[in-house]
Amino acid sequence: MTKRFDGTRDLRRAVDRLARRLPEPLEDLAWISYNYLWSWTPGGVELFTTIDDHRFKLAGENPVRFLLNLPERDLLRAATDETYLELLHHVAQRMEADLARPTTRVLPSGPVAFFCAEFAVHQSLPVYSGGLGVLAGDYLKETSDQALDVVGVGLLYRRGYLHQRMDLSGWQHEYWVEANTGQLPIVRVRGGDGLPVKVKVPVWDSELSAQVWRVNVGRTTLFLLDTELKENTPLERWVTSRLYEGSHDIRLAQYALLGIGGVRALDAMGIHPGLFHMNEGHPALASLEIASQTAAELSGERPALTALLAQGRDRFAFTTHTPVPAGNETYSSDEFFRVLGHSIDEMGIAREELAALTRIDEGSTSEPMGFSPLAIKCSRSTNAVSRRHGEVARGMWNPLFPERSESDVPITYVTNGVHLPTWMNPTMRGLLSKVLGHDWERHADDPSLWSHVDEISDIDLWNARCQMRVALVEMIRDRIVVDRLARGEDVDLAVSGLEAFDPMNLTVGFARRLATYKRLDLLFRDVNRLRDIVDHDQGAQFIIAGKAHPLDNEAKTVAKNMFSVQRSMDLPNRVIFLEDYDMRVAPALVSGCDVWLNLPRPPMEASGTSGMKAAMNGGLNLSVLDGWWSEGYNGQNGWAIDGTTLDDPQAQDERDANALYDLLENEVKPMFFSRDSNGIPVVWLSRIRASLRSLAPMYSSARMLEDYTNRIYRPHPEK
Ligand SMILES: *Cc1c(COP(=O)(O)O)cnc(C)c1O
Repeated sequence: MTKRFDGTRDLRRAVDRLARRLPEPLEDLAWISYNYLWSWTPGGVELFTTIDDHRFKLAGENPVRFLLNLPERDLLRAATDETYLELLHHVAQRMEADLARPTTRVLPSGPVAFFCAEFAVHQSLPVYSGGLGVLAGDYLKETSDQALDVVGVGLLYRRGYLHQRMDLSGWQHEYWVEANTGQLPIVRVRGGDGLPVKVKVPVWDSELSAQVWRVNVGRTTLFLLDTELKENTPLERWVTSRLYEGSHDIRLAQYALLGIGGVRALDAMGIHPGLFHMNEGHPALASLEIASQTAAELSGERPALTALLAQGRDRFAFTTHTPVPAGNETYSSDEFFRVLGHSIDEMGIAREELAALTRIDEGSTSEPMGFSPLAIKCSRSTNAVSRRHGEVARGMWNPLFPERSESDVPITYVTNGVHLPTWMNPTMRGLLSKVLGHDWERHADDPSLWSHVDEISDIDLWNARCQMRVALVEMIRDRIVVDRLARGEDVDLAVSGLEAFDPMNLTVGFARRLATYKRLDLLFRDVNRLRDIVDHDQGAQFIIAGKAHPLDNEAKTVAKNMFSVQRSMDLPNRVIFLEDYDMRVAPALVSGCDVWLNLPRPPMEASGTSGMKAAMNGGLNLSVLDGWWSEGYNGQNGWAIDGTTLDDPQAQDERDANALYDLLENEVKPMFFSRDSNGIPVVWLSRIRASLRSLAPMYSSARMLEDYTNRIYRPHPEK
């Protein structure tokens, strides 16, 4: 066995360094802080919030930064507090036991390496933008829970994704905040010589150097590549500055670093994966690196690239997340080779041969180059992320398999799921523990377990729902005043936000990327009907949140229109926009809303996951039958809007908006406000039980990961 330099030693050093700053009884906090397992272990968050809730928030909920900046007296107080020490002992023991379990190998040939452009592990590690990242973060946590040998590979964007500020007109402005890597719960990986492990990838006319950071996500390790090095030019350092950079040049450099650099980094650390799982097309160039390694091992004449890729195919699986051709990024061959020509040449790959593999029509010279066709061609398995998305993807990629009929296109699906311990509110977890039994989370994907939700009493379930709604309303009141003051609203209007929302009214949430296909504008299509839905003592109230990509002016315009409709309605505290949607606010939203809206233009929602999070918390989905909802909806567990498509998008929007208003007026509101003599909405609660029973076991990451291991990772998956 060659010795591994994978950051284990570096992590131990960092933990020791932090431990030395802590009073002896608190030493366990050091290693706990360097493993994100705390964030989903019961009691983990309280370890920090009970010392100083406010300071923990100011530290971005990053425990390392929090502890490094905490006044000595607070540490000493905790170190002599018996109750606190008991909690610490309890959490430490639970985490230790989890980490001590034996690992299960997925494949005999080596670990699964999961490559993704973004990971949403926790709000304190801002290397994510939205759904794809949350899925990747949830996936890593689940691999830890199931004790599988998986490593994650991504990029450390020092400025992460954009922060959002709206101006008075409702126009979005962006700003970025640079992370201080010295205070993040991550460590630089060093080799046997004590120097940072580095990899090189030729980009533009020179060579990009990158170092590697290690993050512990429970038992699973995530490696992040970073170009912030002295030997790099300012342009090269910018490569890992921001996620989903608008510039094509920068993106291509990022994807080369992720795909090619990621494989080289694993090699340099002595990690030899049995399988590379490319989550979305961004890391597809990894296949080229493996092909050129294969070529280097062969003697004699070098085989063609297709032959080399065919040899490596058994080591690649690809998950596509994009149901529309436009969502699959493509580049002109000029752009592509201007940035990556050197890399390709250095790997001994003929440029035309590669270009053909990135095209649907391999004979074309004008078709732009795409990562998805390459990823499909070099993987032994391709999967979409919901049943409906599978159908759409087979249609979309049929031209890659001209000899096959659409239903025979070799693209299967694994529907997304969410990590229940991350997304289920502690109130809900506590309630369920009473009826599902001890340690139920370990077999949360067992449908028979969930029949026990019928044993929860009406009053307990209703109380839990109210408690989560009240917590959401408190958060909204806190933030809305500041949001309004910051964008220069009238002080009176800003302060009136303290009365925003009635904690007992029907609370409807819509929070997701502001992309036009998500059709937030449907809600604002008929102001009179919307007004009628909200303007009552027993009315609905809407909380809306989401960011637009900086270059997406169309989406920004939707947000701006929403602001002006909202102003014209003159009901500023009934329909509220919460700025800067991210993982800090998402948990309160998905747990506190009674109804979770999703209005995608079908079939453009590959899966969607926020509705799954709402369902886990007893929220009810009202969604277009697209993505996951077209398989999740069963007639009793929420509400559905027709998912068929019309040729005329205007007519479709009209039809779907009317369906939305009809449902809210005629079904959702009356059911929510229909109460028994104790004030309890019994029919509503039975719908929540139906939702939990049918959705919680199916749409957990536990089920998703089992699908991946059984059907995708283990050789010869069925179609
Ligand atoms: C879950 C989540 C998403 C994904 O939501 P969709 O329903 O897939 O659009 C995006 N952003 C954050 C912060 C999330 O928590």
